[in-house]
Amino acid sequence: PGGGMINKKIGLKGVQIGGPSGGCLPESLLDTPIDYESITQTGAIMGSGGMIVMDERSCMVDIAKFFTSFTVAESCGKCVPCRVGLKRMLEVLEEITEGKGKEEYINFLQEMGTTIKDAALCGLGQTAPNPVLTTIRYFLDEYKAHIKEKKCPARVCIELLKFEVVEERCVRCGRCYKACPVGAIEWKKKEYPRIDKDKCIKCKSCINVCEFRAIQ
Ligand code: SF4
Ligand code: SF4
Ligand code: SF4
Repeated sequence: PGGGMINKKIGLKGVQIGGPSGGCLPESLLDTPIDYESITQTGAIMGSGGMIVMDERSCMVDIAKFFTSFTVAESCGKCVPCRVGLKRMLEVLEEITEGKGKEEYINFLQEMGTTIKDAALCGLGQTAPNPVLTTIRYFLDEYKAHIKEKKCPARVCIELLKFEVVEERCVRCGRCYKACPVGAIEWKKKEYPRIDKDKCIKCKSCINVCEFRAIQ
């Protein structure tokens, strides 16, 4: 998720540093010196030294879920904190991105993540919670939006999207209409588009082409 080049019209959100067990840092920390001590203080790790730049189209909960699924798959299963704990963290992240999140999940993720870091036998488990812990630390509002408002501000998590046109934002350009592969959008020149939810296959093509964030 995320990555790629930054679109000038879309704000920078942060960087993911250190590979799958690294951390996600907000724009305000972008001048952090790239040395072991400074990076460790942020909650990230140097890791491979790789860096992924993310803009407002990246959902930080989805990113945390993506990297956690990677480390769950890599876990050898030898110790319980990593084998069981990481899997439970992934399940909780899945629930949050599906709109089934509960308020206590944030504390659970923090406590479980810290326990795994302390108790895991090898470097994989000791660093695997970093993406979750750093996204909670720096992007807590996004977790709260998913859990309390059942909204994904980056419009990534499909279960949290309504596929409706917000007329106050829409400039009636028709780009979404042209982008829909199944003809689910009705639109006439100078009019607001309308999405037929029975026809919509939730492919998000309309969301991706709308520069005005008018489809939510
Ligand atoms: S922390 Fe290391 S040893 Fe323990 S299950 Fe994970 S990968 Fe295996
Ligand atoms: S692309 Fe966006 S702004 Fe243009 S008509 Fe569709 S919803 Fe409205
Ligand atoms: S999500 Fe895809 S199928 Fe649904 S209205 Fe948008 S472009 Fe059409």
